[in-house]
Amino acid sequence: MSTSSAQTPSALAKLLGSAKEAIIAIDTHKHILFCNESARRLFDIPDDPSPINRPLQAVLQNQELLELLERQEAPDRVLRSEISLREGAVTLNAQVTTLDGVGRVVIMQDITALKEIDRIKSEFVHRVSRDIRSPLTTILGYVELIARVGPVNEEQQRFIDRITFSVQSITALLSELLELSRVEADFDADRELTNFSMVLRYAIEGARRQFEARNQKVDVSLPKHAPMVLGNPLRLRQMINNLLENASAYTPPDGAVQITLVEEGDFVVLRISDNGIGIPAGEQAHVFERFYRASNAVKYSEGTGLGLAIVKSIVDGHDGRIWVESEEGKGSTFTIMLPAYRGRNDSPATG
Ligand code: ADP
Repeated sequence: MSTSSAQTPSALAKLLGSAKEAIIAIDTHKHILFCNESARRLFDIPDDPSPINRPLQAVLQNQELLELLERQEAPDRVLRSEISLREGAVTLNAQVTTLDGVGRVVIMQDITALKEIDRIKSEFVHRVSRDIRSPLTTILGYVELIARVGPVNEEQQRFIDRITFSVQSITALLSELLELSRVEADFDADRELTNFSMVLRYAIEGARRQFEARNQKVDVSLPKHAPMVLGNPLRLRQMINNLLENASAYTPPDGAVQITLVEEGDFVVLRISDNGIGIPAGEQAHVFERFYRASNAVKYSEGTGLGLAIVKSIVDGHDGRIWVESEEGKGSTFTIMLPAYRGRNDSPATG
């Protein structure tokens, strides 16, 4: 027992020291407790003088990682983020764990190759979707012309309707695939100071017709003054639209939807609840994956299974978090947390 405890620290240090993942641990005063070889190599931290016991700020140049290690988070939660290095040539996936009264450890994996594969895949999907859409539009055009050039009998009309429905379904799927690849590819292009509360208000107005058509009650609670967020108003609107569309689509006629926006600490928090069909417990973790549709939804309505993947991608692009709480047959609540903008120029609304 005493032998093994005497050996443990150095064995552990050796193991972690040579790990492929980059590992940095800091104490509560942000002094470095541990920094392995991979971290030193990736962040150009010299060996001499030793970084141990020195302030993190004095040793580390990477702003993204410094900010990540500054971010406040509940102690039992793991913070995740991507860090880019060498002008975007290297991407790391970072997870920060906090141990109250002890400090924080960040573990980072190099995901540059995975990001590249993902980029190639997105580009491929984007091209294929775009190229298939134009012949489909031609098919739809000609199908519409059939009835105009001469009378069609009932059976022929049924066939025409089926073709139209199928082509429209494929077109809808391709449009969503294109949207997803656009969101994934160039999301960060433009961010501006955005009045999220206003964007939400417009999105709710836009969705009113859908709620009315299904005779669903909508209850909205917005604060008088919500903080601004740094974001892309169009994408944020699209994110809200998708959630509102789902809330209506997966809630039976005469159901109810509740929308609340609150400020919680450094975040603006949007909750969209419905008393609809809900999501089976074992499937909730999957609904943000591409093409995933819960077993009860498949029977309930048509869909592509891409809407929430788009939502998740937009939330990620805004450094936010999204999750769902749901009970099958009772309803669902989708929650989105976006960082509130705390800059000095908390100027009037845009977007
Ligand atoms: P789609 O609605 O096209 O199927 P989404 O990506 O928007 O695709 O949603 C994925 C799945 O998540 C849905 O198929 C459904 O199973 C589930 N879902 C999303 N929103 C709700 C909701 N408000 N209530 C119940 N299930 C939902």
